[in-house]
Amino acid sequence: MSLRTNLMNAESSQMGIVEPQERLKLLASISNSVEVDPNAPIIRYYRSGLEMVRMANVYLQEGNIDAAYILYIRFITLFVEKLLTHPQYKTVSSEIKMQNKKKLKEVLPIAEKLKVKLKEKYTREYQQFLEAKSLEKELEDKRQREARENAKAAAITPSVNKPEPSAPALPTSLLVDPDMLDRVLYPNDFPTDPNRSSGVGLLLPDTKPFPKPAFDRTLKPSPTSVQAGSLRSVIVPTNTMAKFLALASKNTLSNVETCGILAGRLTQNKLLITHVIVPKQRGTSDSCTTMNEEDIFNYQDQHNLITLGWIHTHPSQTAFLSSVDLHTHCSYQMMLEEAIAIVCSPKFQETGFFCLTPNYGLDYISQCRLTGFHPHPADPPLFMEAPHILLEDTVKIEVVDLR
Ligand SMILES: [Zn+2]
Ligand SMILES: [Zn+2]
Repeated sequence: MSLRTNLMNAESSQMGIVEPQERLKLLASISNSVEVDPNAPIIRYYRSGLEMVRMANVYLQEGNIDAAYILYIRFITLFVEKLLTHPQYKTVSSEIKMQNKKKLKEVLPIAEKLKVKLKEKYTREYQQFLEAKSLEKELEDKRQREARENAKAAAITPSVNKPEPSAPALPTSLLVDPDMLDRVLYPNDFPTDPNRSSGVGLLLPDTKPFPKPAFDRTLKPSPTSVQAGSLRSVIVPTNTMAKFLALASKNTLSNVETCGILAGRLTQNKLLITHVIVPKQRGTSDSCTTMNEEDIFNYQDQHNLITLGWIHTHPSQTAFLSSVDLHTHCSYQMMLEEAIAIVCSPKFQETGFFCLTPNYGLDYISQCRLTGFHPHPADPPLFMEAPHILLEDTVKIEVVDLR
């Protein structure tokens, strides 16, 4: 069974119609769907792993145990199994491996406990579903019985009880509404369509761990996203661009690019950008290379921040993603499918919020082995305006300059 089918089934499991054991199996298959690209530097997976646990902890605190479980299991699968075959596995320092082992020891018992909780939850929901179904059936039977009796009464009434002109009118309850039979629900009509109103709808599981997909559900799963096909919103504080441009203005005046990392946290299944971290860097008129990346990760670790994308200026060009930008962005989006690239063009007064097209662009760029500026086919598009960003006035960005 394909991942896609699994996901669709798992979604229907929210209806409570799948048996608890089956539902756990479906969840496990989503959790195990983490993919490792042998061409991506292995160190990225270790960093991404930490962010995965950070997000899982938030889901756990917020009571979204399905999503928390998926991320914990994904973390475990990644480091106990999938990453061992990465060509760079032997080059990872023992210090990083030790830290990772420590994390695994923390996570394993949590995942075990969650599994038990989920089984209880699914059993409870399945029970509620069965009860609702039998209640619904009882009501249907009753309705049908009444309809039949009413129909019978109406059919025999005229001959048996022929009313005299002076006789009182029949109580309306005995009159058959001709549309009534059409409205009777039969057991086979038992609603599986969530849009249909019925008593069962009220008894559906109360948690909605997965939002409706923002686009195509054939999206590739990335290590830190909870479910393929469902992009969480990325909230961008409106003042992000102005603050970043102010800090970049000196470079911009000398026609030099500036870049920064967008970092933040997960809250209520949304990704909120709270920080722009500007690392030591070397810029030219059309490129920008970060240096001392360890500084960024140390800052993020200290402040419990996850990586949500990057921002850079185009001092003399419009806002778009160059071929080099596409490759830079690919590594962000492979680790987090919601990752965005913000491009600020002060000269043309444009801001672009971009991401790679979820299937084609991400696949194409992750497989392109060319470096430096090089042509890519223009059609179909490799990148697009990010459909999942939300600008927010009430949140203020913090700019951290590590230069
Ligand atoms: Zn660029
Ligand atoms: Zn390329």
